[in-house]
Amino acid sequence: MANNKNDAHNENPYESMLARFNQAADILKLGQKERDILSVPSKIVMVSLPVTMDDGTTKVFQGYRVVHSTVLGPSKGGIRYAMEVNLDEVKALSAWMTWKCAVVGIPYGGGKGGIQCDPKSMSLGELERMTRKYAAAMVDVFGPDKDIPAPDVNTGGKEMAWIVSEFNKLNGGKSFPAVITGKPLEIGGSKGRVEATGRGVMVTCMAALAKLGLDPKKCTCAVQGFGNVGSIGAQLIEDKGVKIVAISDVSGAYYNENGIDIKAAQAYRDSNGKEGLKGYTGGKLISNGELLELSVDILVPAALENVITSENAANIKAKLIVEGANGPVAADADAILDSKNITVVPDILANAGGVTVSYFEWVQNRMGYYWSEKEVHEKADIIITNAFNEVFDASQKHKINMRIGAYVVAVARVAKGLELQGGY
Ligand code: NAD
Repeated sequence: MANNKNDAHNENPYESMLARFNQAADILKLGQKERDILSVPSKIVMVSLPVTMDDGTTKVFQGYRVVHSTVLGPSKGGIRYAMEVNLDEVKALSAWMTWKCAVVGIPYGGGKGGIQCDPKSMSLGELERMTRKYAAAMVDVFGPDKDIPAPDVNTGGKEMAWIVSEFNKLNGGKSFPAVITGKPLEIGGSKGRVEATGRGVMVTCMAALAKLGLDPKKCTCAVQGFGNVGSIGAQLIEDKGVKIVAISDVSGAYYNENGIDIKAAQAYRDSNGKEGLKGYTGGKLISNGELLELSVDILVPAALENVITSENAANIKAKLIVEGANGPVAADADAILDSKNITVVPDILANAGGVTVSYFEWVQNRMGYYWSEKEVHEKADIIITNAFNEVFDASQKHKINMRIGAYVVAVARVAKGLELQGGY
């Protein structure tokens, strides 16, 4: 099986986050108090979840929820199911949520959760029992004004529905739709949420191409990861006239210099059950590592973190990287990409469309009044475009790359919130 993870490169994602935070803090001349507070999560919850498996045995899963900051509002962030889930990863992802919400200016802090498990090997019943156990263990952590989870890798509407149902049950049967976002439409989800992250990837990609003076219709693109973000991002970027020459998932990468028909690839994946793109014949099978190094104009890593590192950054040929995934570029690769003049639209901006529409979902739940898909897209596009321009301007002003520009915008907002609240 092809694998995109560079096993020799084990950069700690929390260290990666701190390296970028410290660069922004230096530019902002942040005081020691703010640095100390924002360098550590404000809350870490670890739970053991005994789950009865279908064969009658009990398996104990490790669950996490980390709240990095609530300075700008209740903490917000997804729940990930994967064997790689560990505390440092969840800590990093929670801090990224703080910066992501701040960079787009929505009134949230940052949090993240996860369960170390292999969801693809579990039955629906096992998944439901594990998810409900997790929700019950977190009943005092979650809350519409406290900590609001959402989907992440290997979780989606069905897990969100189980969590809200368990949360309501444990809170006297009252209805708290705003305790979680990414819910199915029928139980309070927002129109436009499913495609929101991929749409933000497309919007920031087009904005960056315009700044670079590149015509989308003359560009090629490779997309790593063909889940929610990768497949929808690929489809929307293709709709703008870009030729997508490679896609991938955990089964490997598929390359076709004449262009991949994204809708056909999605249909193949959807008909292939848990196998994903395995066996897809619309492109030549290459490895996920090779996909990253293809001669394309645009590269969209939309799977996992640390796939571009100091070991392969020098081989990247794309002119533009749009980070659909969280943390796909390790901190030690940033300078190499800069030296090659590669523009990187950083994760906390490029994939912020998801949390933006999650925010809209929470607003609609609290109003009890629901918007049309058109309204959702229009409102989200404005927020993402404004954030892109602010980050671009910050990077020009301080002569820094867009990643540190995004951190400068975000850290300045959170630090100002800390200062205004005082009392620490
Ligand atoms: P998903 O579970 O829908 O899809 C993940 C995709 O990555 C799948 O195609 C999977 O096969 C592939 N993948 C997994 N391991 C891989 C490996 N080792 N090599 C290559 N491909 C691999 O997840 P998603 O929601 O699309 O999330 C993808 C990334 O985007 C994650 O980093 C996530 O944190 C980030 N993100 C997601 C959202 C959202 O709204 N879903 C929002 C912001 C950021």
